[in-house]
Order: sequence, then structure tokens, then C-alpha cells
Amino acid sequence: MPSAAPCALVIFGASGDLSKLKLVPAVYELAREKLLPPDFALIGYARTAMTDDEYRKDCRKAIEENARSLKGKKPIDESIWKYLEQRIFYCAGQYDQVESFTTLNQKLTQVDKSCNTAGNRLFYISTPPNVFEPIISNLGKSGCAVRHANKSPYHRVIIEKPFGKDGASARQLNATCLATLGEEQVYRIDHYLGKETVQNLMVLRFANSIFEPIWNYKYIDHVQITVSETVNADDRAGYYDNSGATRDMIQNHIFQIMALVAMEPPSALDAQAIRDEKVKVYRSIRPIRQNQVDQFAVRGQYDAGRYNDGKKDIETSGYLKAKGVKEGSRTETFSAIKVFIDNWRWSGMPFYIRTGKALNKKLSEVVVRFRSPPTTLFQKQCEAPVFPNDLVIKIAPDEGIDWRLNGKVPGGTLNIQSVALDFFYKSAFHKEPPEAYERLIFDCMLGDQTLFIRGDEVEAAWNIIDPIELGWLESKLPPQQYVPGSWGPQRSMDLIELDGRRWFQTDQAGADPIIACSL
Ligand code: NDP
Repeated sequence: MPSAAPCALVIFGASGDLSKLKLVPAVYELAREKLLPPDFALIGYARTAMTDDEYRKDCRKAIEENARSLKGKKPIDESIWKYLEQRIFYCAGQYDQVESFTTLNQKLTQVDKSCNTAGNRLFYISTPPNVFEPIISNLGKSGCAVRHANKSPYHRVIIEKPFGKDGASARQLNATCLATLGEEQVYRIDHYLGKETVQNLMVLRFANSIFEPIWNYKYIDHVQITVSETVNADDRAGYYDNSGATRDMIQNHIFQIMALVAMEPPSALDAQAIRDEKVKVYRSIRPIRQNQVDQFAVRGQYDAGRYNDGKKDIETSGYLKAKGVKEGSRTETFSAIKVFIDNWRWSGMPFYIRTGKALNKKLSEVVVRFRSPPTTLFQKQCEAPVFPNDLVIKIAPDEGIDWRLNGKVPGGTLNIQSVALDFFYKSAFHKEPPEAYERLIFDCMLGDQTLFIRGDEVEAAWNIIDPIELGWLESKLPPQQYVPGSWGPQRSMDLIELDGRRWFQTDQAGADPIIACSL
């Protein structure tokens, strides 16, 4: 493992959920894995008044409850806590007042001396997006962060999602970032890129020679990407109503996954080369024009009902009745899109994407469905066509990969059944994959931008989404209601079934019927 240089990490929005659930626990795990530099400091920043000691207590509680290695059950490792505790500080201030940032700068200078952080500063903006721009501008105005081309001391800024709500606001936010910092100092985060399975997509494709020759429209029938949630939007409907499933999930997480599945092999495994290839994918996507939106995209809203999320029953009065949702809102809690990437590799082959809330299962997976064998050998003698091969890349839960192949059922007759070759991370490597935020914070300390999104990437992704959103504004077709706990609205089934295909159902994997064939 490369080692990170000494640094101070400042978390803006330190009183918030993300900080407590993920960021502070990630710092603990990095310390446990001995990846944090010995000379390190953590400074929480938010409007809420707190002393250093109160914030330390907050951090300890967040670690005890949420750290991956403790799972809320094991006791905190006191030796790690002792090391961390004396390096944790708090600074209360406003996000839109430069004076507060001047105070932060003074605190950083003191901490730099007491903790030997060598002037290296990493700022993590974990606030609601309405204050991203004031924070970035004030970092510059106060001198907390300065533009630099050199690597030492460094000033880097991690920016949480959403990066804009459309192309225009993303361009504006990019301009604000680049008015203060260089692109190599800006780390736009998408925590999906920190997940092991997403990173493994590149290893799977480019470190195994069996895939490249067949990774194109000639051998692949289509690709499906599903990111489904069982949780509904009832508790945060006020926020969600200004966003919707397409902006919340497709523009960032799902497009990132799609780009890794579809991109050409990069010339090197470095940030520039990989991000160049991802941008080319976005730029090759056939635009869905405003007047084509109902042909290529489907939106839905969950209706009232009772459903089970796999652990407990949940009752909802439906999205339209949730607190904070505007009357007659057309914000979608489900979105499905058919995308074509018009390049030599994927010409004419669809990528079906779907995501939504209050669905049947919580999962993120990519299904690469290969074409059926062209021979009539089996078709002639079997009661049904043999199953096409699927490569199922499971991103969450149970990270791993399934290859679905056809096998002969043992016995004197020729019976065929689809079987899965499984690879699960946990059992293959006897190790739990780290939390995405651990990897991403560490990468930022190392100055590695590979798993962060470049400015042109985010704008190119919005260029695909903007016409869809505009088309929906004018469409006469409102979101279709769907039963909570189902797989979404009927129109999303039609989107794929009218093409003679079906959505892959994870729970049916390996449970396909046996196909009887005559010898
Ligand atoms: P919170 O709503 O918990 O906000 C974080 C902190 O920001 C709050 O504690 C508050 O601190 C301050 N804040 C809240 N509202 C405002 C406001 N209107 N204006 C200025 N400051 C405000 O957000 P999360 O911690 O859940 O998320 C932070 C960021 O991370 C968001 O951009 C979110 O989209 C993103 N994100 C969150 C995930 C999660 O799991 N929570 C997952 C992925 C991304 P104070 O009042 O003390 O200043």
C-alpha cells in the first residue's frame, strides 16, 4: 500500500448524517488498517455550536454505532481511539460568511503546527448542495485553499453529490470550482465508484482475455442495469420532490456503472486515461429527444399500500400523499430508460436501465445477456429454447459475479438446466470489501483521481438527462402508479418486453425449469 502524506481533513456538514454514518467511521477504519498518516488531524465544521470535546464525543458515538469492523456490537479499539481523539477538533461557522472561514484558516494553521500536518489540507463538503458554491468560494477568499499545481503542500476538495440538478447548474458549479482551484484539486465523489465490484468491472474486462473478443453487440444481446431500493421516499419527500429517480440515481451512479461496462480499454490505468474513455461513452450515447421521451423512458410513482422490505412490513400512503410533495407532483420515484451507444462496439444494442424506490428488493446489479446459440440443434429436439448465457455482476448486496451457463442434468435422458458459476467476494477473498468512503478518502489523500468524476464527465452525463427531463415536463403521460413492493410500473415491463426481452429477476437465477430434450 502506498502511504499517505500527513494531512488535515476538514468535514463541512460535520453535524450531519453522512458524516456520522460514513465519513467519521471511515476515518476510524483507515486508522485501524494503518492507512492514515501518523500526522493527521480531523476538523469538523458546521453551524451547530460545539466544543472540541463535544465533537470528540459525537465522533466516538458515530464510530461505535457505524464503523464497519464494530457493527455496533464490538467495543471500539481504545488504542486507535486514543490516537484519533487528540487529533479531532471542531470549528463552528457559517457557510456563506468569509469571516467564518478566516477563523477556520486560523484553526488549521494551529492544528498544522500541533499535529505536524505539513500544510496539506483535504476539505470534504458534506452539506446540502445549496451551500456547495459559497463554501468553495469562501475557501478561496479566506486562503484556506489556494490554487496550486504542485503536489506539496496540497489543498484538495471532495464535493458530495448531487453535482448540479441539470447541465446549466453543473456548469455553473464547475465554473465556481475552477475559479478557485485547478481541476486536479477537485474530487467530485460518486460513492458507487468506491465499491469493490464496480472497480472489479475493469479488472474483469481488461485483466481477463476471454471477455474482450465477445464484449460487443455481435455476441451480447443487451445489457440491463438495475439499482433498486425497498425504502420509499416518505421520510425525505420534501427534498426528493425536487429531484426524482433519474437525477438522483441515473445521472450519476448508473451512468458511471454503464460507462465502465461500455468503455474502450484505456491506454493506462490512470485517472486521465480512464476518464477520457468514460467521457467518450457519454458522448456516443444517442440523444433521447424531448419528443421521444415516452418511447425511450418510463417514469412511475409508488402508490399507497403495504409491502415488505425483506425485514419488516411497511405501510405507505403513496408518494403523492407524502409530506412535502407538491400537489399533483410529477416527480418520478421510478425511472427506466433504454439507451443506445452509437459506436462501433455497441451499435444498435440496447442498455436497459431501471431504478426506483419502494421496490421488491434492494439490489444493484448489471446483467450482460449474451445472444442465444444460433444452432437449431437444441431448438429442434428440446421442448423449449435453451437459456441465453447471463453474466450477472452483483454490486450490492453480496458483491460477486454469477455466470449462468447451460448444463446437462445428470442421467440417461438429455435434460438441460441453467446453472450458475458463483464468485462471492467474501468467500473468495475471506475478507469483507472496505466501505466505499474509506477507499475514496484514502485515494484523495494519495492524490489519485481515478475513482472521482471529472468536470467534463459530469456535464456530458447531464447532457443526456436534460432532454429527458424537459420532455417529461411537456409529456401528456404522467408518471404511472405502481404497487409498492413490486418491480415498478407496467410501462417499464413494456419498455423491454415489446423488444422481445424480459427484466432479469435475481431470485429466479438457478431456478429455471429443466428443459427436456429427446435424444
Ligand atoms: P444533512 O441534511 O444531514 O446535512 C449535513 C449538515 O449540513 C447538517 O448537519 C447541517 O449542519 C448542514 N445543513 C443542513 N441543511 C442545511 C441548509 N439548508 N443550509 C446549510 N446547511 C445545512 O445531509 P447529509 O449529511 O445526509 O448529506 C450531506 C451531503 O451528502 C448531501 O449533499 C447529500 O446529497 C450527500 N449524500 C448523503 C448520503 C447519506 O447517506 N446521507 C449518501 C450520499 C450522498 P449545521 O446546521 O450544523 O451547519
